[in-house]
Amino acid sequence: MLKCCSLYSGSTGNSFFFQTEDTKLLIDAGVSCKKIESALDSLNISPNDIDAVLITHEHIDHTRSIGVLSAKYKIPIYANSETWNSLLKTNSKLSNSNINFFNNDKSFELNDLKIIPFSTPHDAANPCGFNIFKDNKKVSIATDLGHISSDIIKCLENSSFLMLEANYDSDVLKYSSYPYLLKKRISGPNGHLENCITGKTIAHLINSGLQKALLIHLSKENNFPELAYQTVIEELKKQNYSKNDIFFNVAPRDIPSNLFQVS
Ligand SMILES: [Zn+2]
Ligand SMILES: [Zn+2]
Repeated sequence: MLKCCSLYSGSTGNSFFFQTEDTKLLIDAGVSCKKIESALDSLNISPNDIDAVLITHEHIDHTRSIGVLSAKYKIPIYANSETWNSLLKTNSKLSNSNINFFNNDKSFELNDLKIIPFSTPHDAANPCGFNIFKDNKKVSIATDLGHISSDIIKCLENSSFLMLEANYDSDVLKYSSYPYLLKKRISGPNGHLENCITGKTIAHLINSGLQKALLIHLSKENNFPELAYQTVIEELKKQNYSKNDIFFNVAPRDIPSNLFQVS
């Protein structure tokens, strides 16, 4: 049994929850400790029972409360060394005692889970997504990535469940009030993922067994849930799929998503 959900998702802050019989883990802690406590409480989970927090990358919308949360509940942090060193430079509350290092592309075990971090194209020190394996099922999370390379596709193939960024709509971004350089950064190869690309990727992955997907990390300014959802539907149609071929929805910004059961 593997259950997972988004606790918070969007450019304002991200945290994701995974649970099996033996393990409870968070990926990212990008909102306040209080918010994470209240989201876990709504799932009847105590923060004291969290076995680990995995970090995708050092940006504040993924790490806001990592130091406080880890210290308060003695939760081990898992990150690669580049991400960790970058975090240490900006976060004086972090202690070195609670860090466990992983390397991108090298699997490690956490109780009954096998985890493989994979590199993502994003403007951070050494950003990554994760494949999580339990009982021959694979689930994946990929957020904050400027484009989808063939390497990323390979990492995502054969997933039963995928959390994938759907950050912005090109037209909304084009006409938004963001400064030119910020628009360029977001839409650049190491920025964020556009709805159409998210849709194309999901359509491609149905072939390799993708059954459920959750759209995550929507921009507050350059996207909205109905638009992201509809754009993915359009991309599915282009590949001759319908919305009956896969179950997917959009992670809410400020409350937990549905809990997805994978096996
Ligand atoms: Zn980021
Ligand atoms: Zn982010």
